[in-house]
Amino acid sequence: AACGDDDSGSGGTASGGGSTGSSTGGAQAEGKVGVILPDTESSARWETADRPLLAQAFEEAGIEYDIQNAEGDAQRMQTIADQMITGGVTVLAIVNLDSASGAQIQSTAQQQGVLTIDYDRLTLGGSAEYYVSFDNVEVGRLQGQGLQQCLGEGPKNIAYLNGSPDDNNATLFSQGAHEVLDAVQDYTVVAEQAVPGWDNQQAATIFEQMYTEAGGQIDGVLAANDGLGNAAISILARNQAAGEVPVTGQDATVEGLQNILAGNQCMTVYKPIAEEANALAELAIGLINGEEASGTEEVEDPEGGRQVPSVLLDPVAVFRDNVKDVVDDGFVTAADLCTGE
Ligand code: BGC
Repeated sequence: AACGDDDSGSGGTASGGGSTGSSTGGAQAEGKVGVILPDTESSARWETADRPLLAQAFEEAGIEYDIQNAEGDAQRMQTIADQMITGGVTVLAIVNLDSASGAQIQSTAQQQGVLTIDYDRLTLGGSAEYYVSFDNVEVGRLQGQGLQQCLGEGPKNIAYLNGSPDDNNATLFSQGAHEVLDAVQDYTVVAEQAVPGWDNQQAATIFEQMYTEAGGQIDGVLAANDGLGNAAISILARNQAAGEVPVTGQDATVEGLQNILAGNQCMTVYKPIAEEANALAELAIGLINGEEASGTEEVEDPEGGRQVPSVLLDPVAVFRDNVKDVVDDGFVTAADLCTGE
């Protein structure tokens, strides 16, 4: 997808506030779904992809909805949840900021007779009826395989920038990546650190320290998402090493895809969020209609010791030669990639 061949794509529109909608006529279900997104900084996805795609999924399903963003504040998420429950939400989906606060929100909801769904992140020790996400261990495997492909053979020093220690997904991403890269005998892990809250600025500081401590001897960076990858690239650029050290990512953000096209990032993992949003809308309708919870599979909550009915979707590895697929899927436009919007 070179700049200039703007052939398709609807593109999402970001919005900082809340989105609400109500169906007029032909409603398939009586009830209202609330969704609380985690923040705006840890990934561009939440506001540019999830919000518009969730709104679209609910509109198409004819369900009333209310989408808000907790702006990285767990207390604020609880307050929004309380307000949504008072406002008549019957199904509440959250992307938790950490499992403890997520479980608290779900327990409060349960006491009020409101059913809950874990959207994207599993709440450990929580009580959600469903979990909707991607196969997150597979996301990590794709990152590991991608890095290996970009690194090639021979002895290589690898640094890991993992996601937030509070995010169960980060554990799964790292697990999948290690599964692949630890099996390559020539590779050595020279540094590995989790980035609290997926904070990109902290990631740059952490990576700069890793780079200095390794005396610049880092050959590849397993970064858990595009924001963390971009942080590493910024430090590599300062050391005239951008483009020489492959870096992974996730979310197929405009920034990540641009880094790939510029030759500074090895790959990203594209997660078709429209599918995740549609799956959430479908499960929410089922709950509103009083259907028995049945996902396509079950995921074990290691803290709660229970099986959570789940839908886990397939992630896609994206390298320079298939960036066009993400454009063709309508997730970003070629124009986005050219202007950086
Ligand atoms: C999501 C990723 C996202 C990260 C930071 C994870 O839980 O699965 O898509 O990049 O959070 O927001």
